[in-house]
Order: sequence, then structure tokens, then C-alpha cells
Amino acid sequence: MFTLSNLSLFQTRAFINGEWCDADTQKTFVVKNPATGEVVAQVADLGIAETRRAITAAAHAQIAWAQKTAKERSHLLRSWFDLVMHHQDDLAQILTLEQGKPLAEARGEIAYGASYIEWFSEEAKRIYGDVIAPPSADQRILVIKHPVGVVAAITPWNFPCAMLARKIAPALAAGCTIVAKPAAETPLSALALAVLAQQAGIPAGVINIVTGPDSATIGAELTGNPLVRKLSFTGSTAVGKQLIQQCAADVKRITLELGGNAPFIVFDDADLDAAVAGAMASKFRNAGQTCVCANRFYVHRAIYADFTEKFIAAMQTLSVGNGMDANVDIGPLISAKAVNKVKALVDDAIEKGAHIAYQVLLDPIQTASGHFYPPSLLVDVASDSALTQQEIFGPVAALIAFDTDEEVIRLANNTEFGLASYCYTRDAKRIKHLSDTLEVGMLGINTGIISNEMAPFGGIKQSGWGREGSHYSIDDYINLKYLCERF
Ligand code: NAP
Repeated sequence: MFTLSNLSLFQTRAFINGEWCDADTQKTFVVKNPATGEVVAQVADLGIAETRRAITAAAHAQIAWAQKTAKERSHLLRSWFDLVMHHQDDLAQILTLEQGKPLAEARGEIAYGASYIEWFSEEAKRIYGDVIAPPSADQRILVIKHPVGVVAAITPWNFPCAMLARKIAPALAAGCTIVAKPAAETPLSALALAVLAQQAGIPAGVINIVTGPDSATIGAELTGNPLVRKLSFTGSTAVGKQLIQQCAADVKRITLELGGNAPFIVFDDADLDAAVAGAMASKFRNAGQTCVCANRFYVHRAIYADFTEKFIAAMQTLSVGNGMDANVDIGPLISAKAVNKVKALVDDAIEKGAHIAYQVLLDPIQTASGHFYPPSLLVDVASDSALTQQEIFGPVAALIAFDTDEEVIRLANNTEFGLASYCYTRDAKRIKHLSDTLEVGMLGINTGIISNEMAPFGGIKQSGWGREGSHYSIDDYINLKYLCERF
């Protein structure tokens, strides 16, 4: 049941310069509940003119925002964090309604997203400069830090709250202002966050949310407008590459969090129960629609049968359904198109020799909706199956047997992506070797959950540039200025 205790959080208009705005054309677009296909909102459908106004507002607001003390910015971010946590249940309901994930996961995402706001409210006060030893005695070298300026943020539908919070919080902490465009599938969470930011006292123009399904047009303005000094994008590698080209015209700074293809490696000395628990958490969170989801399971041949048996036993507890219902573990996928993509990848794997070792049964209504995919375990997957090279983005675990460490490292690195990876082993020497040789930005060692606000989240190769979270990521929102003084 959808019952908000604070109805003002359910906003359908865009947020520009502290005001809630309809589109100039009065046009709206539809947001649907992926579990039922029902229309849940009609949201303002913005274009170039409104996006330009948002950017201009952010540029004006940035001057005063940067002049606030770090402590003032810190307090405002902290108030925002407190409000987000106070409204966690309402925000989770809005998130589930538009995205489909189970309510418990949605509550977790709100807390996870809020943790970035809390973290950067603290980091705001710790943006230090440097004094560097000069080459001659009559000199002094200082390094001071300035905010980059207006930031554009573009975020995907799989974590509608957290992906946005991970960008807005460090930007504001550094003294930047922001124009954010959430995915058209999930604009309501972003707008609800903006309601609370306004309530927290964050000044007009510091956060602007532009909504609309014409992402190419809005994106062209965000990347082409010279007032925008930086783009932070989370989404697919294909769109990321296009945005790099668009930002090249005026050499905008860019942070990119792109696609992944995480290997999950289980060695023959692993604690199998722990490995299965990690596999379940990594694979089935958000119905397999995360960039750090285990995409390929490499399991040592000596324990392959045991691991498969335990994995099936764990999967037998999974329940699929509407995320709003109690005790649901796996919700719908975001769209029928996403379901069809998963089907095609599974068909390809089966053609190349894979078998379905276990599949959760869907009920007839779920099947007819076309929005659910049954959690499935594929065994005997060939290493040249398409799903070893593409993100599955669905609740399908694909198992591949391996024999040697060198073989599995070669297979794991055989991808254009380099985001997350996981390994289960008790051998310290092997852990050191994997840490040195796996081509990724993040490695979970005997754990399937790696993301938190204190750690640098991000990838290498075609998985992106820069990091989000941790003390490292604030640098993405800062320009260094070196002062050379002579006395
Ligand atoms: P997507 O198609 O690239 O969309 C992401 C965002 O970009 C959406 O807001 C989308 O808007 C917008 N967009 C699409 N085309 C655009 C264009 N030409 N110009 C400007 N903006 C444009 O990705 P997705 O399928 O929604 O999201 C899943 C992808 O995100 C996966 O590859 C996943 O791995 C990746 N991801 C990465 C991370 C990470 O931290 N590395 C985290 C989460 C997700 P519309 O939806 O309104 O078109």
C-alpha cells in the first residue's frame, strides 16, 4: 500500500532556482510502476529553454554558495541528511513505486544515499590546501582550492536516490552548484530529495532538477552550455562515450561511472557457505540491475558441484513479486525491453551449451506482465557466451568452471570493463596476486558487498573516470590554484 505521511514529497514539477516549475510547453511525460504498468505520475517534460534557465540559476547561486564558510555548507548538508533519514519510509515508498525494487531494499538505498550526504557534510570542512618547499629561500609556494563551478549531473534509474546523492553532496561540499537530470523512468525520487534540500535551507539555485524524457536534448544543453564546468555521469558506457565527445568542445571536466562486468571467483579453498551468501547478495540485489552485480561466476572445478548445490538451495528461498508487498526479494525489471535483453542473453548462452540448473517459477500474472524475469542459475556456460562480455542486468547467475589461477585471472580480465570483482579464498598469497593482477577499480575479498560512502567507488578501462565517495572524490569538484610568492 502506497501511503505517504508527507504528501509534499510527491512532486511532479521540475525544480529550478528554488521554484517548482511546469514545462514551458505545459507538456508532461508518464512515469509507470514497473511492477504493475500503472501510471503513477505525469511529470514536467522540459526542454532546452528550461535547462538553460536552470544552468543560469546555478551559475548565479554558485557565487554566494562558494562564499559561504565550509562550516555553513556543512551544516546545511547535515540538515538535509537529517531530513532524508527522517523521511526514509516515505522516500522508500516513492522509490519502489517508480523503480520496482523491494521496499526493504529501497529503505536501504535511502540510507545508503543519505550516508553520502552525511559523509560530505563532514568532508566539506576538510578541504585543505598545501604549503610546498620552494626552490629558493625568498619564495613561498601555496596551493589553494576552488570549487569547479556549475556541475551537471546525469543519473540512471537503477539507484534513483543514491546515484544522485553521490554527486550532489560532494559538489555542494566543495562549493559547486548543480543541475541534475534524473532518468525519465525515475524522476520522483530526485524531486523528493529536492523538497527536503529546500526544507533544509539550501539556497535557491544551488540544486536544480530538470526532468524530461528527451535526454539527448537536455544532455546537449548540459554539455554544450559554457556555464557548466563539469559533467558527472552515471550510466552506460555507450552514452558515456557520447557525452565525452560533447564535453570536448569546451574541455569540461568529467567524472564517469559506467558499465561493469564483474567476475565472481570462487577458489577451491573458499568457505563455500560464505561464498554462496556473497553470491546471493551480489547477484540478486535490485533484481541483478546494479553495475557491480556479479556478472560471471568462475568456480573452481573441484568445488563446482558443491557450490552449485548450495547456490540452488539458497535460491529456493527467493520470492518474486511487487516490491510494495511484504517478503518480496526480487521485484520486476525496469521495463519489458530489459526483460527481452536478458532473455536474449540467456538464449545465446543455452545455444552455446549452457543449462538452466534452477529457475524460480513466476506466477501467470507476472509472466503476462512481461516485466518480470525468473531468477535463474545457468551452469556449463561457455566462456564465449555473450553474457560474459555484456552486462546481464537481470537475476541470472552464470557459472563457468576453471582449473588454474592464471586461467581465471586471464578470463576475468578478458573484458573492456574494469569496475568491480569478487574473490573467495583463504590463501593470503593468492589474495595478494589477485589484488595486483585483476584489472578493476574495486575488489571484494570474501565479501559480495563493497559499496559504502567511505570508500572510493569507481572503475578503470571502459568503466569510467574518477571515483565517488571517500576523501578522494571531493577532488573531482575542485580546481587547484598554485600561488608563487616572492619576498
Ligand atoms: P543510460 O541509458 O546510459 O542512461 C543513464 C542516464 O543517461 C539516464 O538519465 C538517461 O536518461 C541519460 N541519457 C541517455 N542518453 C543520453 C544522451 N544522449 N544524452 C544525455 N543523457 C542521456 O543507462 P541506463 O541503462 O539507464 O543505466 C544502466 C547503466 O548504468 C548500466 O550500464 C550500469 O552499469 C550503469 N551504472 C553504473 C554505475 C557506476 O557507478 N559505475 C552505477 C549505476 C549504473 P533517460 O533515461 O531519461 O533517457
